[in-house]
Amino acid sequence: MLPFAVRKFLYKGCQRVVTRMVGCVFCRIIARQAKATILYEDDQCVAFEDVHPQAPVHFLVIPRKHITSLNAGLSGEELLLGHLLQVASRLAKEKGIDGTGFRAVINTNAEAGQTVFHLHVHILGGRIMRWPPG
Ligand code: AMP
Ligand code: ZN
Repeated sequence: MLPFAVRKFLYKGCQRVVTRMVGCVFCRIIARQAKATILYEDDQCVAFEDVHPQAPVHFLVIPRKHITSLNAGLSGEELLLGHLLQVASRLAKEKGIDGTGFRAVINTNAEAGQTVFHLHVHILGGRIMRWPPG
């Protein structure tokens, strides 16, 4: 039997591999194989500027692990989901849009406008938002 430290290392390595999806642009950003303006990262999530901003402030917060959408089986991910929103809120404050207001959006599946199937929270602000959204 391998020592615990070695087994843990191998297990962690496996986790990293299986939680990445080949061909996913956001997994590529996390792995630094695709360029992005990274705003924040930690062991659970990464935040970066949206490449086609729809507002003066528009960034995305994504989990490091490849979760396709809110439709994915998310039981056990409560802490991660809360963490994404907490990071989003902190960055909104750093960007100075907490006072005027901002919108958090999670498009889920095609008719809602999801184009990248790696869960992401959009944070948009810096302009007046209309309701209902298009
Ligand atoms: P959605 O349509 O909700 O799936 O949102 C996907 C978002 O990802 C869009 O707003 C895109 O502009 C953005 N996006 C796609 N590719 C990149 C990229 N390489 N870097 C930053 N943002 C991206
Ligand atoms: Zn991915």
